[in-house]
Amino acid sequence: MSALLPGAATLGVLGGGQLGRMFVHAAQALGYRCVVLDPDAISPAGAVAEKHVKADYLDSFGLAQLARDCDAITTEFENVPALALETLAGMRVVAPSGASVAVCQDRAVEKAHFEAAGVPCAPHAVISNDIELAAVDPALLPGILKTSRMGYDGKGQVRVATAAELAAAWAGLKRVPCVLEQLLPLKAELSVLVARGADGQLVNFPVQQNLHRGGILAVTEVPARAVPADVQQQAVSAARQVAEALGYVGVLCIEFFWLDDGRLVVNEMAPRPHNSGHWTMNGADVSQFELQVRALAGLPLLAPRQHSASVMLNLLGDLWFSADGGPTPPAWDRVLALPGTHLHLYGKADARHGRKMGHLNITANTPEAAHAVAVQAAALLG
Ligand code: ADP
Ligand code: MG
Repeated sequence: MSALLPGAATLGVLGGGQLGRMFVHAAQALGYRCVVLDPDAISPAGAVAEKHVKADYLDSFGLAQLARDCDAITTEFENVPALALETLAGMRVVAPSGASVAVCQDRAVEKAHFEAAGVPCAPHAVISNDIELAAVDPALLPGILKTSRMGYDGKGQVRVATAAELAAAWAGLKRVPCVLEQLLPLKAELSVLVARGADGQLVNFPVQQNLHRGGILAVTEVPARAVPADVQQQAVSAARQVAEALGYVGVLCIEFFWLDDGRLVVNEMAPRPHNSGHWTMNGADVSQFELQVRALAGLPLLAPRQHSASVMLNLLGDLWFSADGGPTPPAWDRVLALPGTHLHLYGKADARHGRKMGHLNITANTPEAAHAVAVQAAALLG
């Protein structure tokens, strides 16, 4: 395929959330026009795109409209659009492919892919019927039972310690297909973002260290100071291997567990830019969203160069609810007085607990300096 040139082409995205919004911003900066398909009348990406097609992800008229308007189409989330992407692929350039997204939609299929690519993941068993439930190896307990499909931010997961708890938890999850994973002792959680072009060019960002609270990403630090170089190298190689094995086109994020015994295992992957890559908007010379645009448009990919030590703080709606009630926005003027702070808000009108409202990137010359400012920012945010 010849490249879709900036200033001339229109790019589309399935999904109107914050990831779509930041894709649109990056695409528009390069001179592309953008169309967003999202069923909600009000959406963070729909508000900034040149056009918003308000339709369901599987609405054939909506998809046809998107294909008419756009030269190439991507997605900002994995849960619905595999089928939509397959439909669109008959009409337009689509990246990532519906087939790649389908692998990421199902934990059991995803784990099989990791194993086929030669990358170790957590010991696990697939549970989709009573026979599989009865056959579960007791060595997998205590474990985490996860629905194979539709889980995110820790949703659709239950911790279980015994076979009886496992059976009850599976019944509680309405006996949908699940994966039981052994509960692993985590030293840290890491992620690696890669971007791959249709021509096979493959680039990666450095290893990101992630802290989760209540199943939701809270903080990302890059460089991952605490992680030895050989472990980081292993994570980067594994991420590249997974992308190659998929023949992936676009931006892909692979999450890892670094275990107490020093081993590295892969957790899951997302076929799109990722919350843990938001630091790239200020800490690297190319952001994950620009690479998403470049990969989709068939432009050359830039090998990212990190120019600043970075910390990203996720801003959840909880910050809008102080002791005296709320919702009241945090004192941004005070936060932005701190050195190297860069605020990104997603344009969501109403703050709710657990809702991703924005993120704060902190850049500095050294990881220690970035960390110190992050501590001050967190104190101001309350
Ligand atoms: P989600 O799709 O909700 O992000 P994950 O599989 O990434 O689901 O799980 C969410 C979080 O739960 C992980 O980031 C990690 O903190 C914890 N977790 C998940 N699986 C395991 C495991 N096998 N052992 C220990 N902790 C786990
Ligand atoms: Mg996860």
